[in-house]
Amino acid sequence: TETGLQPEAIDLDPPAVAPERDLFSKFDPLIAEREALLASGVRDPFAIVMDEVRSPTEAVIKGRETILLGTYNYMGMTFDPDVIAAGKEALEKFGSGTNGSRMLNGTFRDHVDAEEALKEFYGARHAMVFSTGYQANLGIISTIAGRGEYIILDADSHASIYDGCKMGDAEVVRFRHNSVEDLDKRLGRLPKEPGKLVVLEGVYSMLGDVAPLKEMVAVAKKHGAMVLSDEAHSMGFYGPNGRGVYEDQGLEADVDFIIGTFSKSVGTVGGFCVSNHPKFEVMRLACRPYIFTASLPPSVVATAATSIRKLMHAHNKRQHLWENARKLHGGLTAMGFKLGTAEPESAIIAVILDDQTQAVAMWQALLENGVYVNMARPPATPAGMFLLRCSLCAEHTTEQLNRVLALFGEAGRATGAIG
Ligand code: PMP
Repeated sequence: TETGLQPEAIDLDPPAVAPERDLFSKFDPLIAEREALLASGVRDPFAIVMDEVRSPTEAVIKGRETILLGTYNYMGMTFDPDVIAAGKEALEKFGSGTNGSRMLNGTFRDHVDAEEALKEFYGARHAMVFSTGYQANLGIISTIAGRGEYIILDADSHASIYDGCKMGDAEVVRFRHNSVEDLDKRLGRLPKEPGKLVVLEGVYSMLGDVAPLKEMVAVAKKHGAMVLSDEAHSMGFYGPNGRGVYEDQGLEADVDFIIGTFSKSVGTVGGFCVSNHPKFEVMRLACRPYIFTASLPPSVVATAATSIRKLMHAHNKRQHLWENARKLHGGLTAMGFKLGTAEPESAIIAVILDDQTQAVAMWQALLENGVYVNMARPPATPAGMFLLRCSLCAEHTTEQLNRVLALFGEAGRATGAIG
């Protein structure tokens, strides 16, 4: 044969890899933990299938009509008729995919249009669309802070921020979650000369708490650092133009880079960075997670562009989302649940439970009665917490939330989570 490998030279029955050299041995504890959980008779919280999706707030799961209270569909844009029409038109005119990188053949009319829509939405000079928000963090963080420079990040940062740090060559320093004092202390210990990037999030997605961005940005600037804010969980409903927590706290002139995603309020998939930095466009030539991957399908960017432009005027939806957050937070607090924040700070309401058994029992009771929430557990959660994470949608109705509250009450009493 061409390779010189004769069929008879292939051992068709090789000996098993010795256990100490089986690369999967390290997953044994994880496999055992999952088997023990399933053996206790509960449904697997990480294997849910939506058999039908009827609206931003309703799906069919295993034959049961279910209220969705654990998606990032904050503004309910996934079934918007204009968004769907834009996606269909692009699918028909430009086909199902781009077959290439943004840098080569993978930039179509609608990728440019989505970037134009982002520039309009954020009032920013530059916008760069990535294939996911994960890749936007990975790419921007690993590229803008290099060898001999520093990244200073909140200890509770999203996995994509941590992975961006790991991928790059900068020194990484963590500060205590939302602690302005600790940020100041750690920046003060660093040498003055090297470039520094402070990475923050507007809303932290596990507990739904908002960052004191104003104070943090002031501290970062005092130490000569640039600032990146990940506004994934705030787009559409904070600040006069819905730009996010940084706009709400009056920081438009001070934040250097905004990271965002199409997978939450925008209602499709994709990620982006917007910036006014005069040299920002060079990122298109240097950022590996932008270059070495295929670009988004034209239908996806067309839906994103339409959705973003509609979000600029979605004042009623925004108001309704906040009403929903206040209603759910108030109702759960009144029943005695322990929540991630004392007040409703965002569209995420996290219910803190004692342990995995109680969290899974509550999760299952809710699901069996037709309410889906997210089960969140370490390592995704801070401080080893087990959470049922509820995320609200502008399209949730009062009737749906009344039903959710009644079911939380029943499940909470049955599992001992409330008295
Ligand atoms: N940043 C934050 C804060 C997130 O929560 C997420 C996703 N949950 C991302 C980035 C990644 O976004 P995407 O889903 O577009 O990859």
